[in-house]
Amino acid sequence: MSSAEHRWLFWHRRDLRLADNLGLAAVASLTPAVTGVFVLDPAELHHPSMAPARRWFLFESLRELQQRWREAGSRLLLLQGDPLQLLPRLAVRLRATAVAWNRDVEPLVRQRDQKLAQALQSQGLRVAADWDQLLVPPEQLRTGGGDPYRVYGPYWRSWARYPKAAPVAAPTGLQDASAAGLEALAGSDPPLPLVDEVPRERWDGATICPCWPGESAAVEQLRQFSAQALERYQEGRNLPGEEGTSFLSAALRAGTLSPRTAWASSLEVLEQCRSDEQRQSVTVWQQELAWREFYQQALFHFPELADGPYRVQWRHFPWEDQPERLQAWQQGLTGVPIVDAAMRQLVQSGFMHNRCRMIVASFLVKDLICDWRHGEAFFMAHEVDGDLAANNGGWQWSASSGMDPKPLRIFNPFTQAGKFDPEASYIRRWLPELAHVNSNDLISGDIGALERRGYPEPIVNHKQQQARFKALYAALPKPGR
Ligand SMILES: Cc1cc2nc3c(=O)[nH]c(=O)nc-3n(C[C@H](O)[C@H](O)[C@H](O)COP(=O)(O)OP(=O)(O)OC[C@H]3O[C@@H](n4cnc5c(N)ncnc54)[C@H](O)[C@@H]3O)c2cc1C
Repeated sequence: MSSAEHRWLFWHRRDLRLADNLGLAAVASLTPAVTGVFVLDPAELHHPSMAPARRWFLFESLRELQQRWREAGSRLLLLQGDPLQLLPRLAVRLRATAVAWNRDVEPLVRQRDQKLAQALQSQGLRVAADWDQLLVPPEQLRTGGGDPYRVYGPYWRSWARYPKAAPVAAPTGLQDASAAGLEALAGSDPPLPLVDEVPRERWDGATICPCWPGESAAVEQLRQFSAQALERYQEGRNLPGEEGTSFLSAALRAGTLSPRTAWASSLEVLEQCRSDEQRQSVTVWQQELAWREFYQQALFHFPELADGPYRVQWRHFPWEDQPERLQAWQQGLTGVPIVDAAMRQLVQSGFMHNRCRMIVASFLVKDLICDWRHGEAFFMAHEVDGDLAANNGGWQWSASSGMDPKPLRIFNPFTQAGKFDPEASYIRRWLPELAHVNSNDLISGDIGALERRGYPEPIVNHKQQQARFKALYAALPKPGR
């Protein structure tokens, strides 16, 4: 039997790379006759929660992925439509005997995948689904009582001990489908909606977005970070005015970089560290990789997180949700410089520094008394790294509605700015209209009328709002989780 009769289809989703792709490596170890496919699903691509930044990152990454498939000897097909409808038809047309993909933690994706697996199996096809996007698959870690983890500290300790796989190489020597097989695709009735060229997303932030699309750029970005900033990460990660973090969140989200490759790089740096401070920095970065996995396993085990507050009493919180306040926050016009700088960074570049994500989230929820789900949705609609598990986890942490055992956390945005942007360089970069104002005033928000030049006064008083929020919180029923 020729290998063409054993053709596998490999469906890329959040794993836009050939190197260290566990699902693809498993297929390539069985047969070289593998064809890649990516489905451009309009329901996803044009959903209100889809950021133009993320579409840009996806399309640019797909362009390189197509090239990599060609170099490996086969091809990446692009289809446009609903994967549930299209993949069974594609498999038949290509005479594939099996379809493989890497698993995801998101509730709707898991439901869709289950339906697809059933449809393919009912056609007599083999289906293989592997874990790839996590160093530790979500079912692997349980508390002493046998439950999934709800608290990060013990999760980290158990996650750190779990053996991590080393990266695997990209497949080579793959075989393309036969000319007859490819012709059958174009001539099918109704024709399969094949897309010849990856679309382009003209997005204004492309030149300033700090996350670089594509597999080779992600590896280069990891190399640079590992060589320059990782051993100083513990301090650098908190300073939004400096480039102290990896900017790899979009690559890890889209899978242009694998978490195993990121982990392996951190181990190499650890080997070369010359001081405890440097070693501690590497550990702190590894802990961030574990936060990413903590939120993913949480969503996997508690899909209800995606629908709203985890702690039930928050479902009754009397949010004030004033539209003009929400709008000021979205537009970076609250009159609180650190908040406005951060919101402009997000809208213009598709990215926001982690420290600032915590500051603006606390401000929306605890100063403006707006339901955190408005913030969660706005972030998703703008983030280049927008990810349901991490975004929801970050917002529930900031709102105090999540699994986090510390119940009420309120950030003072002025104190935060003084501590983490002491020269106000971040504020000046994103609020150029205030570049002439001195650093102390930019940090305190106490800017003279003449110097404001149209920039608003703070729309709320932090102290008053903090007291008000605490009173509303104190009146909530306190039962259960
Ligand atoms: C309200 C809020 C919303 C957020 N939304 C997202 C989101 O949609 N997508 C996203 O990837 N991250 C999100 N984060 C987490 C964090 O802000 C970003 O991962 C980080 O800023 C990305 O920058 P970096 O790649 O330079 O991270 P680094 O500091 O270099 O960290 C390395 C990697 O660890 C992961 N990571 C770091 N911190 C966290 C964290 N707190 N939670 C989960 N993973 C983490 C990311 O994959 C990141 O690339 C959110 C945080 C908050 C507070």
